[in-house]
Amino acid sequence: MRSSDFPFTQEASDQVRSLGYSLDDLIGKTSFKSVRGRAAERVGGAISGSIPERRASSDVGHLTELLSYPLARVMVSCLQDPLLLRRYALAEAKLAFKRMHEADVNLVLLAGDLGLHPQGSGPLKLYFAEYIRAAHRMHSPNWKLTNRDLKGGYLTVTEEELKRLLQEQVRERVLRALPLSVDESVCERLSEYLNPLRADLEALKARKRVDLGKIEQGAFPPCIKKMLSDAAKGINLAHTARFALVSFLLQINMTAEEVVALFNTSPDFDEEKTRYQVEHIAGASGTKYRPPACATMATYGNCPGEDDLCRKVRHPLSYYERRIRSLQQSSEVRK
Ligand code: SF4
Repeated sequence: MRSSDFPFTQEASDQVRSLGYSLDDLIGKTSFKSVRGRAAERVGGAISGSIPERRASSDVGHLTELLSYPLARVMVSCLQDPLLLRRYALAEAKLAFKRMHEADVNLVLLAGDLGLHPQGSGPLKLYFAEYIRAAHRMHSPNWKLTNRDLKGGYLTVTEEELKRLLQEQVRERVLRALPLSVDESVCERLSEYLNPLRADLEALKARKRVDLGKIEQGAFPPCIKKMLSDAAKGINLAHTARFALVSFLLQINMTAEEVVALFNTSPDFDEEKTRYQVEHIAGASGTKYRPPACATMATYGNCPGEDDLCRKVRHPLSYYERRIRSLQQSSEVRK
């Protein structure tokens, strides 16, 4: 297991420090051109969806891989975009997850660096507090503590589950100190790399922008507006919020395709899984679901507070219908 494969670890960071190169060296010296290229490739990979694997077979190759990580962090910080930060952290975590499947990886050692201490061989035992810390953002019911076999403070995880938990730990670690505070002059010196990345990022955001067409967004209730705004910012919605948002949009006649596109900015967007979930709510299995009533929305923390109309309705769809009606009436009055 080489630290250049997992450049976010403490060991890798110590190694970078002991090499003694300065940021000025990395961005200025001709001998580090390949490091700059690979750093830009890491960031470009985050924009396009995945960082390409580069199998280093020489010491120079390992050094490039190792040093490209801190420089990539500088580059994403220069670009100053919250969506990119989240995509970058996820892309690094996914690359690490792939590499965890290599034969020479010491998973227990890697886990220890990332704050998890699995015990035993075969089914691994994990202390429940560590498990909760690592699994709290996992949405699938399988990860819920109540669905786990908990004995004496420990629960068991398979090796594959541990890798998935480590991926999440990596994502959080990569994201933790970002954005770095980077001097403007450093960003300027990197403009040869940053300008094309900025253009790619803008193109990505333009592709993800969803036009709701004839649907009256101005008539949406506060709960739906908040969820849409969170989704657009790339914030992961809780399962109950996702269900409420998807079922609401389908009820007001958005197509499943349009709803899937809405989640494109989500940092862990999985198109196939999202399509399956949306189509299921749309009625592919025979039942077309309605969004929950206001009382249920409030129970799950999905009601952000009431405006005047909220106090008169019991369902987000009633809110929307009443707003639409009053918008239509006021446009008739103006005619
Ligand atoms: S009261 Fe109902 S419609 Fe209004 S924000 Fe809450 S859940 Fe949405």
